[in-house]
Amino acid sequence: MGIIEKMRLDGKKIFVTGGARGIGKSVATAFCEAGADVAIVDLDFEEAKKTAAELESNHGIQAIAIKADVTDPEDVNAMMEKVLDAFGRLDVAFCNAGICMNIPAEDMTYEQWKKVIDINLTGVFLTAQAAGKVMLKQGGGSIINTASMSAHIVNVPQPQCSYNASKAGVIQLTKSLAVEWATRNVRVNSISPGYIGTELTLNSPSLQPLIEQWNQMAPLGRMGRPEELQSICVYLAGDTSSFTTGADFVVDGAFTCI
Ligand code: NAD
Repeated sequence: MGIIEKMRLDGKKIFVTGGARGIGKSVATAFCEAGADVAIVDLDFEEAKKTAAELESNHGIQAIAIKADVTDPEDVNAMMEKVLDAFGRLDVAFCNAGICMNIPAEDMTYEQWKKVIDINLTGVFLTAQAAGKVMLKQGGGSIINTASMSAHIVNVPQPQCSYNASKAGVIQLTKSLAVEWATRNVRVNSISPGYIGTELTLNSPSLQPLIEQWNQMAPLGRMGRPEELQSICVYLAGDTSSFTTGADFVVDGAFTCI
């Protein structure tokens, strides 16, 4: 079998949090193109249902939508049960749901700080933990967490200390889980995207004045596209990445190099 065939995900069962739109939807689409069945997990159930229906009709795989808040342990457990009811197993988890708030540190309320940490860091812990428990029993699996280039640099000019701290936490959480579960065949890696054109960035009024500035700063002169994160995630999800765990993959068009 050639390398491209080996990278396929036929029959694998995957959940994607924040899968209704943006990076989650794009990566879920790639998983389906590679032959996997997916559960689209999102707070926005209406959009999740649309995405799942689109994936099923376009790719001839099974796609289901699940409403869950990744910050709520009961929701996450219920989500995991629904995935197992539908698919019978879990091979890959893409723990990707996240938000951003650009607020100066001195003005940030406790509630604003907590919301970002709860979704971006605790949400990744809860969903990776739920996935890990199932995968440890099954004898293996691959978990991919979404961090950010903001885990590596303090991007300017927007103030986003809670976002930066949450994403740095995702990387160290990823490494910790990778080491804890390494001998039991559960791999855990993260991706660190640079600026990507999604609703998070393109539809945020506070970010509009910054987008042109980012494009000027970026070595490639532009933001990334969600589909430019697909291949790394298909690689991490599949069996050819069997020696890759505890790693973080920066996909940022060299933004963190400057
Ligand atoms: P997006 O806003 O387009 O999509 C995020 C999805 O997550 C939405 O569908 C939303 O409903 C869902 N979501 C939010 N809170 C949730 C919760 N508590 N429980 C379940 N679902 C929830 O965002 P995106 O740009 O696709 O970002 C996806 C991930 O990538 C995030 O973790 C983000 O921090 C990260 N990221 C994005 C960029 C970028 O430039 N867009 C760069 C680096 C990292």
